[in-house]
Amino acid sequence: MYAAAESGIYCPLCMTDGMAQLIDRHAWQSDRDRLLPHIYTNDPTQFYTGAMFLTEKSGGSDVGANEVQATHLYDDYYALNGEKWFCSNADAPLIVALARTRPDVSGTAGLSIFFDRAHPTRRQPKPNRSDTLER
Ligand SMILES: Cc1cc2nc3c(=O)[nH]c(=O)nc-3n(C[C@H](O)[C@H](O)[C@H](O)COP(=O)(O)OP(=O)(O)OC[C@H]3O[C@@H](n4cnc5c(N)ncnc54)[C@H](O)[C@@H]3O)c2cc1C
Repeated sequence: MYAAAESGIYCPLCMTDGMAQLIDRHAWQSDRDRLLPHIYTNDPTQFYTGAMFLTEKSGGSDVGANEVQATHLYDDYYALNGEKWFCSNADAPLIVALARTRPDVSGTAGLSIFFDRAHPTRRQPKPNRSDTLER
C-alpha cells in the first residue's frame, strides 16, 4: 500500500534498507561503526539514505552486461569510469556502484560493488571527483 501511495519515498527507503544490510554484512568494522548509527536512527537530522548506481544503458535486467570500468588506484581505492543510467536517490550520502574489475570476465562474475565514501553533504563537491549528474 505504501509503495503504491508514495513511490518517490519508497524507492529511497528500499535502497537505504539494502544499503544497511550491505554495510552490516560486508563493510569494514570501522565503516559499520561510523555509518550504521546514521541509518538506524530516529533523528532525521542524523539520518543518511542510500543509493545504488547499478543500471547502465547496456545492462538493466541483464546487469551482467554492465560496462563501467573500475581501475585500481592504490590500496582499496578504485576509479570508476563510465556512465550509469538510472538512480532514484542520486543525492544520497551513502552510495554503492557496480563496476567491472575483470574486463576479461563477462557477465556478473567480472563485476564488483564499490562503496563511495560517505559524505553527509553530498551536494558539496568532493575533492578529486569528476562525476556529473544529468537530470
Ligand atoms: C522507478 C525506478 C527506479 C529505479 N531506480 C534505480 C536505481 O536507483 N538504481 C539503479 O541502478 N537502477 C534503477 N532503476 C533501473 C532498473 O534497475 C531497470 O529499469 C531494470 O533493471 C530494467 O532494466 P531496463 O529498464 O534496461 O529494461 P530492460 O532490461 O531493457 O527490459 C525491458 C523489458 O524486457 C523484459 N526483459 C528483459 N530481459 C528479459 C528476458 N531475458 N526475458 C524476458 N523478458 C525480458 C523486461 O521484463 C522488460 O519488460 C530504476 C527503475 C525504475 C523504473
